[in-house]
Amino acid sequence: MPFDFSFTPEQEAFRSAVRAFLEREVAPNVAAMDESEEFPAASVKKMQAEGYFGVPVPEAYGGLGLGKVGYCLLLEEIGRVDASHAAIVGAHSSLGTSPLLSYGTEEQKQRWLTPAARGEKLLAFSLTEPGSGSDSGAVHTLAEKSGDGWTLTGTKIYVTNGREADTVLVMAANDVKLGPNGGVTAFLIDKGTPGFRVGRCEKKMGLHGTSTAELLLDRVALGPEHVLGQVGKGFHVAMTALDVGRVSLGAAALGGMQAACRSATEFSQNRTQFGLPISEFEAIQFKLADMVMRIDALRYLVYHAAAHQDRMGSEPAQWGRQERQQKTRESAVVKCLASEWAKEVIDQSLQIHGGLGYIRGTAIERAYRDTRILEIFEGTNEIQRLVIARDLLTRGL
Ligand SMILES: Cc1cc2nc3c(=O)[nH]c(=O)nc-3n(C[C@H](O)[C@H](O)[C@H](O)COP(=O)(O)OP(=O)(O)OC[C@H]3O[C@@H](n4cnc5c(N)ncnc54)[C@H](O)[C@@H]3O)c2cc1C
Repeated sequence: MPFDFSFTPEQEAFRSAVRAFLEREVAPNVAAMDESEEFPAASVKKMQAEGYFGVPVPEAYGGLGLGKVGYCLLLEEIGRVDASHAAIVGAHSSLGTSPLLSYGTEEQKQRWLTPAARGEKLLAFSLTEPGSGSDSGAVHTLAEKSGDGWTLTGTKIYVTNGREADTVLVMAANDVKLGPNGGVTAFLIDKGTPGFRVGRCEKKMGLHGTSTAELLLDRVALGPEHVLGQVGKGFHVAMTALDVGRVSLGAAALGGMQAACRSATEFSQNRTQFGLPISEFEAIQFKLADMVMRIDALRYLVYHAAAHQDRMGSEPAQWGRQERQQKTRESAVVKCLASEWAKEVIDQSLQIHGGLGYIRGTAIERAYRDTRILEIFEGTNEIQRLVIARDLLTRGL
């Protein structure tokens, strides 16, 4: 297993360019976005123009061709500035473009992947239903065969980008009885398709810049060209997407942890109590040290997993069984640790800020609300632990 963590000069240059862009175009608007709870349409448009919605996609399909490592660099930088923007990019890229790249036919790549990677179209991913969350194979949205196409009926919930997306990757049941083993199919549904509409959008604790939408499907008629991957193999499509998503979630958490640590460090050096900067007190130094340990450890985990995915490539037919299982385990480990460490680091940073950390409108207060979801979406941490333990029990360490 190769362990090489150095970034190339191109990757470092990309990081610098992204950082400068985000400081200029996104950071100044984040507090207002959080307060208004509006989708940050203007900054998303600018990010699309920069190519940031197609970072891991090959240039042949309109992307920047920077792979998963480049993509994680992007998410880490976005995570330093705002979790909502990270979730919007993640839902589009990890959960939208990556399954299109892995499972799309050439026609589907031309029709859906290329405009999405160029930033002309926004994607979303829809697996969850009212009765199917952690038990994600128990899909009840029905896909019935009609002629050479399909008719879809059902209700999906909690779809990030669901209100704004031009196209949604929807998992539906071609056979409810079969469940994840042959009974779920992935469909590409465009906004404006008759019978397909956005329902309620949730009010949330955090991630105020993202929509979390219900999608209603009332006899939505689709041609066979809307099926992504094989009929009955939609669960593989979804899990492949989530393997990418869980690593990029880790990258965004890593960025959020650095911002929280930096803020705590600066605050502690400038806040004087008992005649000394509070950074002089050992209780504060220990908290800062704990932050650094988690940040350093997570950085290795994230880029190790991302580099592994880059080496594997995007063609599922070329993945061996062991390699696929290892990829899934690595992404579950990253997702679990990143979300839990991010919560701890941000909580400790808030504590160092004292009462100020609890005041609405400060970056650390927003981060505290935003970070809680990381333990829940893209598979809860309980489910990630099941994945890790089952892999240990079958394959060993
Ligand atoms: C802001 C937000 C954005 C989201 N974005 C998307 C999206 O873009 N697309 C999408 O498809 N979904 C999305 N989701 C849905 C999200 O992935 C689910 O909420 C999550 O998978 C958990 O499902 P659930 O809410 O139904 O909880 P449940 O599955 O009902 O779980 C409730 C609790 O029981 C635990 N539990 C369940 N089963 C087990 C078990 N076997 N062993 C131990 N514990 C168990 C869970 O871990 C959890 O603690 C989003 C959710 C939110 C809140």
